[in-house]
Amino acid sequence: MIAVQTGFLPSRTRAVTVLATRPRPAVPASPRHRVWAGLLLLCALLPASARAQTDKVLNLYTARHYQTDEALYTNFTRKTGIRVNKIEAGEDALLERVRSEGRNSPADVFLTVDAGRLWRAEQLDLFEPLQSPVLEARIPAQLRTPERTWFGFSTRARVIVYDRRTVKPAEVANYEDLAHPRLKGRLCIRASNHVYNLSLMAAMIEHLGAAGAEQWARGVVANLARAPRGGDIDQIRGVGAGECDVAVVNTYYYVRLMKSDRPEDRQLMERVALTFPNQASFGTHINVSGGGMLRTAPNRAAARLFLEYLASDEAQIYFADGNNEWPAVASAAAKNPELASLGKFKAESVNIGVLGRNQPLAQKILDRVGWK
Ligand code: FE
Repeated sequence: MIAVQTGFLPSRTRAVTVLATRPRPAVPASPRHRVWAGLLLLCALLPASARAQTDKVLNLYTARHYQTDEALYTNFTRKTGIRVNKIEAGEDALLERVRSEGRNSPADVFLTVDAGRLWRAEQLDLFEPLQSPVLEARIPAQLRTPERTWFGFSTRARVIVYDRRTVKPAEVANYEDLAHPRLKGRLCIRASNHVYNLSLMAAMIEHLGAAGAEQWARGVVANLARAPRGGDIDQIRGVGAGECDVAVVNTYYYVRLMKSDRPEDRQLMERVALTFPNQASFGTHINVSGGGMLRTAPNRAAARLFLEYLASDEAQIYFADGNNEWPAVASAAAKNPELASLGKFKAESVNIGVLGRNQPLAQKILDRVGWK
């Protein structure tokens, strides 16, 4: 489903190109047309810095759809006078849309979740590298690519959830435990082709080496309680239903269930607990919500301002809280008691760009081991 908000201003860049290449009209232009043409010509002649100040709109393509984002956009507009035009769609639909629009895309900034998806966009050459002292000072180096193509603005961890009645936390203290024979027929995890598992696998390749990661993935497949189906929440429900004892999920799904008022969810959350894997070794696998400026962005100054705004303390709190994630910027302290109750943990230190680069190998290995 794509929710479209219409009303994009005509792209200045494209309009200028059109003026330069089209033959002169045979009939005299109307006064309105002359005004437009004059404005466009003026824009083209202005130095870049002056033109930058004329950006009064930001076209945002986002896979996020959280209530708190509205406050985020309103505050940005109040601070900068730049209106946010928003196109919301599912993650993959949005990527396809910006790809198919190509050079004609009105999009300035693309926001989505998971390093794997951000990497796909980068592979399609959609992002314009952005040198920004603000982003470099605010966003930890681990959470942005060395090429400055995209930036992580909040983090989530991929953790192990277990049935308190049948599993001891020490038995699921590490990702390696998911492949241990004692969990045979007891593990629920979603399909291998989902980007969350591809990114987890990409991280495992980094931590264990390709051969070690393949062996691990074989063990995981051998332990599955059922053919992978559903999303992360369904895996936790699988534990609740007694179909499995252990599940692998992103933290924000767990927190979402913690906040649920439904009696069945309350019951479920009393039954399960989670571990942050690999605290004594390489740390828990983390991923990001993030984005960057598009190569074809018509409103570049606005795009830069918006991305820098996302790294401010105020925006960080809204951005992270919207999906029960941790702010990327350490000084931004979100008030999210349920998330805070999970406690502090040691995260892996792999650069987020590596998760993207390892995706093709991850997919190959997961296919090879028969993880459906
Ligand atoms: Fe998700």
